[in-house]
Amino acid sequence: MYPFDAIVYLQRDDHYKRSDLEQRAQIDAMSINDTKDKVLKIPDRSDYLRDQRRSGQEIMGVLPALYPRELLWAFNILPAEIWDPPGEILLANVHLQASICPIVKRGLEFILKSPEIINSGYLFPHTCDSLQNLGTQVKDLIGVPVPVYTFYNPKGEFNKASKRYYSEILFNLQKTLEKSHGLLSQNQLKAACELGHKIDIRRQMLHAALMEDRFDLSNREYFQLIRAAEYMQGQDYLDLLNHVEINEQIGVAPRARLLVTGILPPGDDILNFLDESRVRIVSEDLLSGSRRIPIVEMDQPDDPMEYLVERFFLLPPCSTKAGGLDKRLQYLKKLIAKSRCHGVLFNTVKFCEPELFDQHFLIKSMKVMGLPVLNLETELQPGLSGQEKTRIEAFLEMLDEGVPV
Ligand code: SF4
Repeated sequence: MYPFDAIVYLQRDDHYKRSDLEQRAQIDAMSINDTKDKVLKIPDRSDYLRDQRRSGQEIMGVLPALYPRELLWAFNILPAEIWDPPGEILLANVHLQASICPIVKRGLEFILKSPEIINSGYLFPHTCDSLQNLGTQVKDLIGVPVPVYTFYNPKGEFNKASKRYYSEILFNLQKTLEKSHGLLSQNQLKAACELGHKIDIRRQMLHAALMEDRFDLSNREYFQLIRAAEYMQGQDYLDLLNHVEINEQIGVAPRARLLVTGILPPGDDILNFLDESRVRIVSEDLLSGSRRIPIVEMDQPDDPMEYLVERFFLLPPCSTKAGGLDKRLQYLKKLIAKSRCHGVLFNTVKFCEPELFDQHFLIKSMKVMGLPVLNLETELQPGLSGQEKTRIEAFLEMLDEGVPV
C-alpha cells in the first residue's frame, strides 16, 4: 500500500514552497529561450519514413499500441505506428459510426489512402474493441493491397495461463511472418531484444530525470522525443535518446508541475502554451508513452522469447489491459509522489471507452487526495481553442492559489 496521507502532505507542502517570493523571482528570471536554443534534432516522421522506403526498407503500419516491436525488427521490418495522422477525415466516415474515437477514424483514413510507404502489411493489436473491429473490417470487408495481421493481447488479471497464452500468440505471429519473410534468425531476435532492452533502460532514466527536473527540454520537445519511437529504427532512436543530456543539477522549479495521463500527450499548441506559462509536465502515464516501458529494469535478454513474454507482463497498469482499477490508482499515486506534481491533466481522446471506463474512479480518487484535476477532451484536432485556453488558465490559477477543484 502506498502512504496515502504522505502524498497529500507532499502536494500541499510543495505548494507553500512555490508561493515563496524568492522562488517566484527565480522563476520569473527563467528564460524560456534558454531551453528553446538547445533544439533536439528529431527527424520529421514523413521524411524519415520516405527515406527508409526509398532505401528499400520493409515498413509495416502498426495500429496502437502494444505489440512485440523486437520481433518485427528481427524480421527486418520497421514498424510505423499509426496513432493520429494529420489531415481531414474524408473517406473513413462512411465506414464508421459517428461515436468512434478519432484514433480509429484517422487510422482508417490513412489506410484507405493506400499509402505507398506501407509495403509490408498492417498489424492490428487488440487494444480495444474499436481497433479489433477495425482490423476485421480492413481485412474482411474493405480489403487492402498488403497483408493484414492481428495480435490479440491478453486482458484482465494476469496469471500463468495468460503467460502461456502470450507465448503462443508470439509464436503464432512469428510463424505467420515466416511465411512471407523467411525463417526467423534467433541471433537477430536476440540482438533486437538487446537493442529494445537498451532503449527501455534509457527511457526509464529519462522519465526519472523528467520527474527530478534534470532536463533542458521543453514539454513539446520531450513528447516529440518520446513519440519518435513510433517511427524510427531502433538503433537511430537509441542514438537520439543517448543524445539527450541529463543534468547533474536539479533545474529551476517551474510555476507548476503536472502529471498527464491518457492515450496521447496534449497537442503541440497546448504543450507550447504550457511552456509559455512556465508549467512543466513532470511525469506521464500515457499509452503512447511510459505505459509501453517496463516498470522495472529487466535483466539482459537471455532467451529472447522468454524475455518478450516477461517484458509484456512488466508493463504498467493500463486501461486497455482491463486489469484492476485499484492497481492503476496505486501506480498513479507513486508517479504523483515521485514527480511531486501539483495537479493532474487527463488528456482524454473523445469516445475512448477503455479510458472513460477508468476515468470516473481515478478523478474521484484524486479529488479525495486534494489533487486538482483538469480533464481535456480531444478529437486530435490541431490548435488551441479559446475555450481550452480559458480552462487551462483557470486551472493554473487554481494551482497558483493551491485551491483543489
Ligand atoms: S483511443 Fe481508446 S478507443 Fe480509440 S483506439 Fe485508442 S484505446 Fe481504442
